[in-house]
Amino acid sequence: MNFCEKCGAPVQLAVPAGDHLSRHVCTACGHIHYRNPRLVVGCVPEHEQRILLCRRAIEPRRGYWTVPAGFMENGETLQQAAARESAEEALAEVTIGSLLAIVHVLHAEQVHVFFRAQLPAARFAAGPESLEVALVAPRDIPWDDIAFRSTDFALRRYLEDKAAGAEPYHFHSIDQRPRAEHAG
Ligand SMILES: [Zn+2]
Repeated sequence: MNFCEKCGAPVQLAVPAGDHLSRHVCTACGHIHYRNPRLVVGCVPEHEQRILLCRRAIEPRRGYWTVPAGFMENGETLQQAAARESAEEALAEVTIGSLLAIVHVLHAEQVHVFFRAQLPAARFAAGPESLEVALVAPRDIPWDDIAFRSTDFALRRYLEDKAAGAEPYHFHSIDQRPRAEHAG
C-alpha cells in the first residue's frame, strides 16, 4: 500500500501509539490502515454418498478441483455465505449442516471455514467461476488435483468423520510464509 484510502496522500509504516504492530499510517490525515485476516467460507455438499466438486475457472489454481467456497460478504452469516458460494459456483441449492473445519491459512492472511452440507436434488451446473461441476464418489476424488491444502484437509476430515458416524469440528493451521517474514 502506498497511498491513503481516505485522502490519497502517501502512507508510511509506523507503530501507532498504544499499538504493537506496524501499520500503514497516512502522512497527511493520520488515518491508520489496518489489515486483518479475511474469511473464506465453503461447504462439502453431499448427494447420495457423492460429493459436489468444482473445477476452478479462475486463478489461483485454475483447472484444479475444490469445494464451493469464497470470500464472505458483509451482512451475511457464515452459513449464508457457504450457501451463496454453492449457488454461485455450482448453481446448487444446498442445506448447510454442521461446522466441519476452521483452517488458519497464515501466509494468505485468511481463515477458511467449512461446513458439511446436503444437496437434496442432483441439480447443479458450472457457474462463471467454474469450468465444470461434478458429483464425485469418495474413491474417485482427484486428490492430486485438489486446489488448496485447506480443501484437502476439509475433504479428508469429512470422509473420516462420515466413516466414524460423527460430526466433530477440526482446527488446522497452514503456514507457508518464508522464514524471513517470521522474523519480521
Ligand atoms: Zn490520509
